Amino acid sequence: MKAAPDTVVRIAYELRTEPEGQVMDSAAKDSPLSFLFGHNNVLDMFEKNLEGLIAGNQFNFVLTPEQGYGAYEEEAVILLDKSVFSHEGAVMEDMLFVGNIVPLQDQHGNPFQGRIVNLQDDKVTVDLNHPFAGKTLYFSGEVVEVREAHPVEIEHGHVHEHGDHSHH
Ligand code: ZN
Repeated sequence: MKAAPDTVVRIAYELRTEPEGQVMDSAAKDSPLSFLFGHNNVLDMFEKNLEGLIAGNQFNFVLTPEQGYGAYEEEAVILLDKSVFSHEGAVMEDMLFVGNIVPLQDQHGNPFQGRIVNLQDDKVTVDLNHPFAGKTLYFSGEVVEVREAHPVEIEHGHVHEHGDHSHH
């Protein structure tokens, strides 16, 4: 079966941000990435490059930053008061370290994440860019399995591994 809309595709892959660079993200053959094809679960161009492949096929493709996670935006690096990271009036110092991913909320209460890039007195510099923003993405790997999606998976728009439905 070929990877196409409404199939479940399982792949082993490695992601680099330089052609021969270190592996930044990966999934092994014995714990592959599964996704429901054609339901916006992965990047569009990632899917396009896998379309038509069958189990056992190797792949190797490159996505530009625009096809990936977008340009890196300097404006998305913001300065916050440490008091933003307070719980019951006390600053949660143990979560304030460079490199930590911290939960934030926009003015509508929607959650998003930022990465601490600098600490200074009572200020925290947080980078809201996706970790792969501005990066060229070098994917390589192998298709492990392609199967028809169950109607309920198509209805939900995501994969149910092992028929597991407990996530609802
Ligand atoms: Zn579901």
